[in-house]
This record gives sequence, C-alpha cells and structure tokens, in this order.
Amino acid sequence: MSSALDRPQQTSPVSAPPDGTLLSSRELDPTDHVIRLSSGIEIGGREIVLMAGPCAVEDVDQLVLAAETVSAGGARILRGGAYKPRSSPYSFQGLGRRGLLMLRSTADRLGMAMVTEVVAPEDVPLVADYADILQIGARNMANYRLLEEAGRSMRPVLLKRGLGSTIDELLLAAEYVLAQGNPDVALCERGIRTFETAMRFTLDIGAIPILKQRTRLPVVLDPSHAAGAAELVGPLARAGIAAGADALLVEVHPNPREALCDGAQSLGPRQFAQLAKEVGRVAAAVDRRTG
Ligand code: PEP
Ligand code: MN
Repeated sequence: MSSALDRPQQTSPVSAPPDGTLLSSRELDPTDHVIRLSSGIEIGGREIVLMAGPCAVEDVDQLVLAAETVSAGGARILRGGAYKPRSSPYSFQGLGRRGLLMLRSTADRLGMAMVTEVVAPEDVPLVADYADILQIGARNMANYRLLEEAGRSMRPVLLKRGLGSTIDELLLAAEYVLAQGNPDVALCERGIRTFETAMRFTLDIGAIPILKQRTRLPVVLDPSHAAGAAELVGPLARAGIAAGADALLVEVHPNPREALCDGAQSLGPRQFAQLAKEVGRVAAAVDRRTG
C-alpha cells in the first residue's frame, strides 16, 4: 500500500480585492499563474500537460492498463473518479476510498501525478490525502461549501464549468477557492448545455481565450465530456490547444465498450496515442510543446 501524500500547510483567508476586481484577474497581477506539483509538473507554463485516464476507477486491471497507456502516450497526470456524481442514483457510484488508494499507488508506480473528483465537503480531507489535484465537477461548480473546503485543503483545484454556468459564474466560483488563500486553481471548459444536441454538450471554444485574457489562471480543456463520442474528442482537443488551453483532461479506457461510465466518449489505447501525436503537432504550431 502506498503512503498518502504529505498534507501541505493550512491556508489563511485573504482579504477581498478592491471593488469589482477578482483575485484571479490580470488587473491585479498580469503574470500567468503556474501550478507547480511536487512531481515537477507545471500547469500553465510552456508545456501542454496531458491528464488522462478512465472516467471511473473500476478495478486494478482496468486502472493499471489505462494508466500505462496514457503514460506511454505522454500524459503526466493520471485522472480517474473514485467518487462519481452520476445523474442516476442507480448508476455505478465509484469505489470510494479503495479507488483513491488504487489511483495513488498506480500514479506513484508510473511517476505520475493524480487528479480525482471530490463531491462532498466532508470528503475533502480524505481525498486531499491521496490526490495531487482536487477536481470539482461541473455539477458542483456552485457548491460553495465544497469550494471553500477545497480552498482550505491547499491542494491545487481543477474547477469545471457548470453545465449551465456563464464564464462570470465560473470566475466567481474560483474566487471561493482563491479567497481561502489557495492560489492554485485551474479553470476547466467541458462544454455547456445549449439547444444543440448533436454533441453531448456544446464546447464553448471561445471561453478558452476569454479566460486566458481575463485571468492569470491556467485553463484546461476537457474535450471528452463535451464530445460524448470518442471520434469527436481528437478534433475538439486540437481546437482547444490552438485556442490557448494549457492542459487537456481526456477519458481513456483499455476497453471502452466495457466501461461502467462514459464508455462512448472514452478513447481506446490506439486512439489516445493518435490524439497525443496530433496534439503535439498543434502545440508546436502555437509555440508550445507536449511532454
Ligand atoms: C468527469 O470528469 O468524469 C466528470 C464527471 O466530469 P463533469 O463534472 O465535467 O461532468
Ligand atoms: Mn466522465
């Protein structure tokens, strides 16, 4: 069993910025904020960071195969849900603490960092013991108690945009974390609900340059949840990198047809290798690089 991560120091709340400005804004500080993980990984620097892995941790074999695949393709951060916020209470809800342990030991073995979702304020200390980055999901973007707890944990936070939330609402949600004295927030565009049904969610590609212009925070694109279909993930990922995203969050499963969660949008091993190669070319075209 791998040991949990050392807990970083507690934060202390910061005072409110002058009227109308946000702690995330470039008005307060024009420099890009880079999130530095203990493993030497930087989110928001010149390198485009790939975070990839299954939607949900299902069992050791599935997780290890997925992790080896994404690591070989250049992903430096392993993703995987141990606590799943499912639309139906009858769907697979995740392995909980057992899933956290599996994620930590697999990431450690491969020299990767790890991001996983936390769905309830009372779970934050536990998840923060295992994860390098706490993911706050789209359905919880406006769960302000959860945001504050995540802020207090001093772990970096990957904050997803709500399905029906504006960019301003996303930025205000991020302030709940920042106001706790935790500067490490990455903003994630993952598609919003519109009248269009051809995609699972409509990817708001314009949100990427807007967030980059207005804030100093790194911007992450999750093409998988917007696409809802594996064949759309690559094109959306490439568009996002061209538009200025600093990182990608991609769902990968060793056998997508057997996935317990989000199989239709999950890439298989060969598809991920292809995506990584193509993203590398787009990154070079916009003067960035992949790992
Ligand atoms: C996920 O990343 O698996 C997830 C549940 O994403 P979202 O919160 O964007 O729906
Ligand atoms: Mn998912």
